[in-house]
Amino acid sequence: MTNNSLSDTLNHTAETYVKLVLSVGQHDENYVDAYYGAPELHDAVKSEMKSLSDIKLIANTAVKNLQSLDVKKEEEIVQLRHQYLQKQLQSLVARVEMLGGKKFSFDEEAKALYDATPPKYPEKHFQKILSEMDGLLPGTGSVSARYDEFKKEFIIPKEKLDVVFQTAIIECRKRTKKYIELQANESFTIEYVNNKPWSGYNWYKGNGFSLIQMNTDLPIYIDRAVDLAAHEGYPGHHVYNSLLEENLYRKRGWVEFSVYALFSPQSLIAEGTANFGIEVVFPGVERVEFEKKNLFPLAGMEASKAEKYYKIHELFLKLAYAGNEAARGYLNGTMTRDEAAEWLVKYALMSPDRAQQRTRFFDTYRSYVINYNLGQDLVKAYIEKRGSTPDKPQKRWEEFKKLISSPRLPSGLI
Ligand SMILES: [Zn+2]
Repeated sequence: MTNNSLSDTLNHTAETYVKLVLSVGQHDENYVDAYYGAPELHDAVKSEMKSLSDIKLIANTAVKNLQSLDVKKEEEIVQLRHQYLQKQLQSLVARVEMLGGKKFSFDEEAKALYDATPPKYPEKHFQKILSEMDGLLPGTGSVSARYDEFKKEFIIPKEKLDVVFQTAIIECRKRTKKYIELQANESFTIEYVNNKPWSGYNWYKGNGFSLIQMNTDLPIYIDRAVDLAAHEGYPGHHVYNSLLEENLYRKRGWVEFSVYALFSPQSLIAEGTANFGIEVVFPGVERVEFEKKNLFPLAGMEASKAEKYYKIHELFLKLAYAGNEAARGYLNGTMTRDEAAEWLVKYALMSPDRAQQRTRFFDTYRSYVINYNLGQDLVKAYIEKRGSTPDKPQKRWEEFKKLISSPRLPSGLI
């Protein structure tokens, strides 16, 4: 078949994919994270209201068509596109089956939806990290309670939240712009909200614009400022979405990038790059230096305590996989909600309130939790394998940019 008919077939399948994602959105309000394609198409889908079994049938046929294509001689990005459409559609089928009542185990679901296999860690893995923290934290009692106590000094006062966040965002944007050309009109707005199962969310609206929402139900610690600015903003979700929109959707006309299906392999890349982006934008000690000079004083905190705070924070981050274990147990039915929350307090060092909030996150987003930590580790390994270590910032940014501008999948990172 000629190149033209191949790209016609891919374009046609891509349009089918967009319609299917929007159709699943009719059955699952959390499925469509962003859509900035033609509104007429969305209207048409709404009026059709396809059943789950019709969606599944069409998706399976589209996958079969893709599998019959030979793309071996195509340029890499076309091969990636071909793979991407297949995996996104297969994941969509799995989500449709879940909506129809099919039960997956935590690991089956992670594989089916996110194209990845989460590792399993025994309790002693976390106990080892806790014992390291034990030696650094003052006071007596459980590590979790002492960690909570230690962090109290580092809560950003409510009236200072916005100025601290805006300062972190300006810096992340400035640093990102040095290496990545951003859309001329890109921007975002921050809103402070309550009663959500997440702590922050980027709603990408298209044309380079994001709405970032911050949940202020629970205390917000100083590390969240750079985390939020980098993860939700620069070079995280906001940049990721705007590069896909600009490079793949607008310039190449690949319509599958006018929609973002939340429960799909794309999310592992999105969350993984957003988390890894924090150390790309602030390599090594640069983060602590910036925060000591700027954020700590703005938040009214003692700058001399920044090093200790981040030393402990780094250990805390190593406990991230404890959250997966709680989600696995809770979703597989081997832990009750209270047991999962208890585990989160003990091994993920969450306050009891935050642990309860997290179990509500499990209710809605389920195995999505793997996208943050496993995603980050896969992205980091992929980028560092290409010779881009923290001491080579130029190369690291180049690889990072390449990854967030292409349709690479989780299994393609390994
Ligand atoms: Zn995120």
